[in-house]
Amino acid sequence: MRTYTVDVLVVGGGAAGMAAAAAAAREGARTVLLERGERLGGVLEQCIHPGFGLHRYREELTGPEFAHRMRQELDDSGAEVLTGATVLEILPDGPAVKVVSPKGLKKFRPRAVVWAVGARERPFGALRIPGTRPSGVFTAGLAQRLLDLEGLLPGRRAVILGSGDIGLIMARRLHLEGVEVRAVLEIQPFPGGLTRNVVQCLRDFGIPLLLSHTVAEVHGRERLEGITAVRVDEHRHPIPGTERRIEADTLILSVGLIPEVRLIEDTVPLDPVNRGPRVNGRLQTEVPWLFAAGNCVAVFDLVDTVAELGERAGASAARYARGELPPGKPVPLVRGENVVSLVPSYLDGTAESARMYLRVPRPMEGVAVDVGGVVRRRVPVARPAEMIEIPLDGDALSELSQKERIVVEVKPK
Ligand SMILES: Cc1cc2nc3c(=O)[nH]c(=O)nc-3n(C[C@H](O)[C@H](O)[C@H](O)COP(=O)(O)OP(=O)(O)OC[C@H]3O[C@@H](n4cnc5c(N)ncnc54)[C@H](O)[C@@H]3O)c2cc1C
Repeated sequence: MRTYTVDVLVVGGGAAGMAAAAAAAREGARTVLLERGERLGGVLEQCIHPGFGLHRYREELTGPEFAHRMRQELDDSGAEVLTGATVLEILPDGPAVKVVSPKGLKKFRPRAVVWAVGARERPFGALRIPGTRPSGVFTAGLAQRLLDLEGLLPGRRAVILGSGDIGLIMARRLHLEGVEVRAVLEIQPFPGGLTRNVVQCLRDFGIPLLLSHTVAEVHGRERLEGITAVRVDEHRHPIPGTERRIEADTLILSVGLIPEVRLIEDTVPLDPVNRGPRVNGRLQTEVPWLFAAGNCVAVFDLVDTVAELGERAGASAARYARGELPPGKPVPLVRGENVVSLVPSYLDGTAESARMYLRVPRPMEGVAVDVGGVVRRRVPVARPAEMIEIPLDGDALSELSQKERIVVEVKPK
């Protein structure tokens, strides 16, 4: 097996990986990006709807258009790209990274690695829905791939489980392709996605949204014939007597993404809520040569954020490879009231500035985010679908770094 030595190895060629590789190369690091697919872009390639890039490019682009812009930046940076290259193993000793490509097995010996492999969809089995296991049950990402990349309809009459942005966008896409979308079911008493998506994807097309509802059972032997929908109480328990059958040949599951960490979970500590690696303000994990960015750290709603974090991770990895990032004293960020996702997981005084991202568990109005009593920011409306972004400047970071722990909470102002 041939061995290659590089400064920075980026794994994953979605928005996070492309941004990381370009930033590392611009810093002068010899950088290689590995992508298992034949094209770069990751999930962007199958998102043909507009809504990408409003912050980064101040234009409303489709996913492939956004990916194209990033690809140009990557090409200009001088980073080397290997597509069709799947990382099989990361050996912490060295570190060394084993890769398979159509040309055979390769081994890389990088000084720093940026992990940017995105997230995977929560599968049907994880939901424990009783009933048969017929065909016609798809995750939203698979249905989107069939529809937008391969020109195939998953079915004719669909029910969608989950009203996050992906579920809402799929409801509109299916409707526009002539599929009868019977209903979108949401287990929570509020929609999971942005209000504009509820209006533009469901209300504008008369697609019913059933809040506090889930699927109690699937029916059909070979092909799905229908589902039983049921109302749930505040503890998400089905309410007996509220069952109703909805005829459908397709069930689309849009019930959450999980950061992809399978190859690094034995190497690096994970955050139990985000489910990705614990990172500091530079996107450095607790294993100093390993950086991480994008949806494999936590699931972000905007690609602009993912790209920005990718750049930060790539530039930091390049500095680490040059021996310019001495370790600092880690100060953990602790979730206080009303905080679910939280990035970073700790600060260590090594970043000149940083951004914090957090999610609330339910819609809230007139609240303030408090970061360790040092930074306080008012938020008129906080929704689980929208990550709240808090900039932390150098003064705030140096004050926070003196603490033993930093409690982050969202409270009525
Ligand atoms: C349906 C949908 C709609 C969205 N709509 C919007 C929107 O309107 N506006 C917006 O701003 N954002 C939107 N987003 C969010 C945004 O697109 C994503 O957050 C972002 O593109 C994720 O980028 P990523 O690089 O973290 O991951 P990904 O795009 O998933 O990229 C990860 C890459 O890693 C590769 N990889 C994985 N494992 C390996 C391995 N072992 N070896 C080599 N390569 C590997 C994968 O092939 C993939 O290309 C949407 C997302 C979805 C799914």
